Amino acid sequence: MRYDYAIFGAGVWGAWLARTLHRSGKKVLLVDQHGPANNRASSGGETRIIRMGYGTKAIYTEWSLRALRLYKEFYAKTDPTLFHNTGMLWMCRDNDEFARQSIDVFKKQDVRHEVLTRGELDKRYPQIDFGACTWGLFEHDAGGLLARRGVQTVVRETVREGLTYEQAFVAPPGKHKYDAGTYVYACGPWLKKLFPEVLGNKINPTRQEVFYFGTSPGDTAFRIPRMPCWVDGGDSVYGLPDIENRGFKLAIDAHGPTIDPDTQDRAPTKAVMDHARAYIAKRFPSLKDAPLTQAEVCQYENTANGDYVIDKHPEHANVWLLGGGSGHGYKHGPALAEYVAAALEGKGRIDPMFSLAAKADVSAAQRNATIPQK
Ligand SMILES: Cc1cc2nc3c(=O)[nH]c(=O)nc-3n(C[C@H](O)[C@H](O)[C@H](O)COP(=O)(O)OP(=O)(O)OC[C@H]3O[C@@H](n4cnc5c(N)ncnc54)[C@H](O)[C@@H]3O)c2cc1C
Repeated sequence: MRYDYAIFGAGVWGAWLARTLHRSGKKVLLVDQHGPANNRASSGGETRIIRMGYGTKAIYTEWSLRALRLYKEFYAKTDPTLFHNTGMLWMCRDNDEFARQSIDVFKKQDVRHEVLTRGELDKRYPQIDFGACTWGLFEHDAGGLLARRGVQTVVRETVREGLTYEQAFVAPPGKHKYDAGTYVYACGPWLKKLFPEVLGNKINPTRQEVFYFGTSPGDTAFRIPRMPCWVDGGDSVYGLPDIENRGFKLAIDAHGPTIDPDTQDRAPTKAVMDHARAYIAKRFPSLKDAPLTQAEVCQYENTANGDYVIDKHPEHANVWLLGGGSGHGYKHGPALAEYVAAALEGKGRIDPMFSLAAKADVSAAQRNATIPQK
């Protein structure tokens, strides 16, 4: 069978790209080695934040807005519980340039937001000890996306509409059995393993641990609507409220050690757990002794500056590489798919910031960003 497009990888990016191309009338094949949003995929976690704040990088803000609209439209028809409008709180220090730059972009792109003084933060969120934070930035329309279930819904719904999906391992170009006009490898943290010569020093998958803590019986202080999604950039920690009763989610955003997504041990480590507990005791004092209810060990697939890779393979004109989500790529799924589909169809061009040529050596950047491993 010959397809117009064969998409390899059914994480959030491959799944939405397959849906977008399929709905534009193309003959599309989607293949994944372990199944859509499987437990080793970066899209396989419980939840992901969708927020608009991106400092000066306005293209990501634009995509967040577009993606949020597309997610809501799709979920309204399939499963409205896949998005929770929690809002997003940026906990800021005096010198938070990123937040100030985000506000400038918010004003240009009509992103609903509110700047909060320290007094307003203390009053609105008595369950948080804001410590050195002096102000806050709140995004009204942001929230939490159910990550694994969301991708599985996209694939299931699109297969119902006629997309061909297959579970198989796909080898590099020229070594697999598939026949298509264009091939897209959307293989997340596996991309570097498949294309070591092209991506060896441009994408680095790192170990990231996520914790869910149980609150006291009857306590609603860490649930919607009292608790939003939040990022504390000064401490490189972020979290989500208790969604679907899994517990209060907290994760360290600093990059862990380099891993192999096939073999990395998915049990949490004491060192990172201690780091998370020390932070909880400081910022959310009433959760100091909260029990762990669940943990996930996932990976970021980092480029040196966090910008995605969207480019043709240098030696195969009909092979595209799509990846480098760098710990923030879930939210953009449907908007990114539109952008990439337009380029594949010759109707749009990819910004040079996403090219292979624009990607610096990631190993140097990585050395400066590791979690202290006690
Ligand atoms: C802990 C954590 C928290 C995050 N938080 C956020 C957040 O709050 N907001 C946000 O927007 N983003 C967040 N991200 C980032 C986001 O999850 C990723 O950027 C995104 O999921 C990447 O999707 P992907 O489709 O590129 O890759 P993946 O989801 O990894 O999918 C790749 C797929 O390719 C398949 N595959 C690989 N090789 C082959 C092969 N040879 N043959 C067949 N199939 C293959 C795999 O099985 C996999 O299913 C977070 C990531 C982590 C780990």
